[in-house]
Amino acid sequence: MTRNNDIDNRLVFVGTSDLSGVVRGKSFPAGDWEKRSRRGVGWTPTNVQITCFDSISDSPFGSFGDLVLVPDADSRFVLEDGQRLDFALGDIRSLEGEPWDFCTRSLARRALDAFHALTGARVQAAFEHEFQLRDQPPRPGDAFGFKGFRDGQAWAEDYLDALQAAGCAPDTFMKEYGPGQYEITMKPAIGLAAADNAAVLRLLTHDVLQRHGLAPSFAPILDPDSVGNGLHVHFSFLDDADAPLTHDADDPHGMSRLTRHFIGGVLKYLDQILAILAPSEISYLRLTPHRWSAAYNNLGFRDREASVRICPVTAQDPESVARQYNFEIRAADAAASPHLTLAALVFAGMQGVREEAEPPTPAQEDLSLLDPAALAARGFRRLPTTLGDALAAFGRSQAVREWFGDDFVDVYVAHKEGELAQLDGLDWPAKCARYAEVY
Ligand code: GLU
Ligand code: MG
Repeated sequence: MTRNNDIDNRLVFVGTSDLSGVVRGKSFPAGDWEKRSRRGVGWTPTNVQITCFDSISDSPFGSFGDLVLVPDADSRFVLEDGQRLDFALGDIRSLEGEPWDFCTRSLARRALDAFHALTGARVQAAFEHEFQLRDQPPRPGDAFGFKGFRDGQAWAEDYLDALQAAGCAPDTFMKEYGPGQYEITMKPAIGLAAADNAAVLRLLTHDVLQRHGLAPSFAPILDPDSVGNGLHVHFSFLDDADAPLTHDADDPHGMSRLTRHFIGGVLKYLDQILAILAPSEISYLRLTPHRWSAAYNNLGFRDREASVRICPVTAQDPESVARQYNFEIRAADAAASPHLTLAALVFAGMQGVREEAEPPTPAQEDLSLLDPAALAARGFRRLPTTLGDALAAFGRSQAVREWFGDDFVDVYVAHKEGELAQLDGLDWPAKCARYAEVY
């Protein structure tokens, strides 16, 4: 046997953030990058039905078919600290090179491209994540506390270094309200990179904190009686020359026409895309009133109990206000692939732009005190309260079927039904524990 020791056998991992919100993939020797970035690595259609618990839901593909997962050089990074990591996200394609209908990254790209074609705007987004260290008893004085920050500093600087090196520029880090809960925000990124960064941030959180002997989890809620872990997606728009398109000083709440219709669309279709944004059974424990998450299709002006919230700006000069101005979507969590979340939000926002949808007037009251008739009279709806209800709304939505395609919708519903079956008979704490292990 002849050996060729000139080949770089250090491994590159190429991954896809799949329907279950888990990154799965394969690795190959770095020396083969050139070849693999053209040809990809082999991938199997039925992998799309592997649930977050690794069961396999009903699959229309069975044992048939072949695909390729093609690494994207734009998403590649190498970390030298700790155990070396050479990583890239990839696109799933047919053997003929066409984007696969169930590739979350290709779906996000399709939504972003269509939005740009319709409006001339590029989406800029930042994913704000909350996570908790598992099995941390509550400690008085810990909410936003200095003590918790100092505990976190033992690992956070390594963590932020890793994020920076991976291209996910960290913005702020803080001890959040709940037991062992932290929040990390990233600087905004354009288009697909925003979702890529979110997928990478989740991986690196586990990677770096594990090295420090900690067990983080992004599961939507760890304890049914305590706080949830939210994912807030901040949006703003830029034109091709980088001019901001989100703000209009003449609107009472600062929304440009594009922003208003986009938010109008997101809120109009929110119940129909919730099964994507909040995709676990326990997501619906979090999406309840008084948890500072989201329970209605409402727009909040600096209100933290709204599905969409217009965020504050801190500058005074018009140019900087227009650049800072953004809104966040709060009815999402990190059990979803960030690529699917981005695709669903952009499809819904784009539909709002097409229909010139108007958002409801920002509410300044506790909507949970209104009865359904009073809610309806103001144009508000309670969001679905179970994953089952959210899936039903998703499955029967003509709009969702047009955006994602019938095959995708049917496969996604079957995927989630298989996931729900894995939880049959468990009580809520046990369900939370199962999700905590995954995310
Ligand atoms: N933990 C809250 C959530 O589940 C968010 C709290 C906040 O940062 O406003 O979304
Ligand atoms: Mg927070």
